[in-house]
Amino acid sequence: MDYDYKLKCSNKRVKVEDVYEFEGCKVGRGTYGHVYKAKPKAGTEEKDDEAKEYALKLIEGAGISMSACREIALLRELKHPNVITLNKVFLSHADRKVWLLLNFSEHDLWHIIKFHRNAKATSKPVDVAKGMVKSLLYQILDGIHYLHANWVLHRDLKPANILVMGEGPERGRAKVADMGFARLFNNPLKSLADMDPVVVTFWYRAPELLLGARHYTKAIDIWAIGCIFAELLTSEPIFHCRQEDIKTSNPYHHDQLDRIFNVMGYPQERDWEDIRKMPEFQALQKDFTKNNYVGSSLGKYMDKHKIKSDTKAFQLLQRLLTMDPNKRLTSSKAMEDPYFQEDPKPCADVFEGGPIPYPRREFLSDEDNEDKSSSKSATGGANSTHGPPVKRGRVVPPSTSSGTMNNYQKHHHQMTSMGMHSKSGSNQYTFN
Ligand code: ADP
Repeated sequence: MDYDYKLKCSNKRVKVEDVYEFEGCKVGRGTYGHVYKAKPKAGTEEKDDEAKEYALKLIEGAGISMSACREIALLRELKHPNVITLNKVFLSHADRKVWLLLNFSEHDLWHIIKFHRNAKATSKPVDVAKGMVKSLLYQILDGIHYLHANWVLHRDLKPANILVMGEGPERGRAKVADMGFARLFNNPLKSLADMDPVVVTFWYRAPELLLGARHYTKAIDIWAIGCIFAELLTSEPIFHCRQEDIKTSNPYHHDQLDRIFNVMGYPQERDWEDIRKMPEFQALQKDFTKNNYVGSSLGKYMDKHKIKSDTKAFQLLQRLLTMDPNKRLTSSKAMEDPYFQEDPKPCADVFEGGPIPYPRREFLSDEDNEDKSSSKSATGGANSTHGPPVKRGRVVPPSTSSGTMNNYQKHHHQMTSMGMHSKSGSNQYTFN
């Protein structure tokens, strides 16, 4: 390209720091970069939107190819109440940085679940709307159904990627974030071994991926939703697994598969006929002994967490966490499940008008950043703001405790976990 033309373009290009105020407002650090709370600057066109809160996501050193550009343009077309809005993209050519302007969301499921896990460990009850888990699941499914209908696969669903709106016009609305980013910003030429070990988690990976499946599918997203649903019901990551051997580019993860079988039981061939076609089937046969998993089942695992197998919640969970991807539920079938017809019905405000017990996002200090960047070392170190810790062990080992009703009227339960709700309510799920 001719130099003068390039210079002209670059001078015309609006710089993110010219229009948005975000210095000192870092709220998170994730797989792809840093997230800041941002406000439009005075004297800019964007100032009209002053009341609106934004999140600026910095994707460092990603650069941008033509195909990534096309894909981001597609992501900007996506509009759904349960999908985070990507308002604008700023490209900073000099340092190969990509800035994404998103709507700001005060909460996310990683922080919400952590709050419940801590409350559980200290036996502090938390007031939550009785249909909250159901509303969250319904809205996640709705968002994913929209993405899947538009042939966008998420590829990296986990609690940190499910945002929940705080006070404001969209109060208590769940939004799927980061869809398609795993493909866009993960350098395909870089093996997992070269990636920051802090931020890769396998807990939400479907068994077919761990057995070497070559392509991402809708069913892979559904498995992750099943994992999130179980985690909402129990406050514990269902397929929690130590992540010592994270530095490997091999999709086959023995320990993660072992954890899945320990919870679910070993897959029977009649349940998953095509398992023998999986690329890592040989390794599976060599490394695993079926008999070690006799007596394990999802029913038993959930029963330990006080979720009975005869509940609609359990039955839906089982259909989402079906080992054979071909038999796994689709998002549209899941949304028709009897669980959602049963009271309490899912609501647009997952908090059902009640108080929001979770703290608002805090700004991270430079110290936090240092802590986090030092954790980038190969030894793992601390967790990022949203992911599972790698070497420090579990976040807080939760003990199970059942909830008790308080008198927070018929709309709420006082519970130590977000678990099951038994009393009926009649809130209809509606979006305006
Ligand atoms: P990852 O890249 O690992 O998926 P993110 O970078 O999306 O993680 O998120 C890092 C942190 O920033 C998380 O706590 C996440 O909830 C938060 N975050 C992401 N998007 C937004 C947003 N639109 N508004 C507010 N916080 C956000």
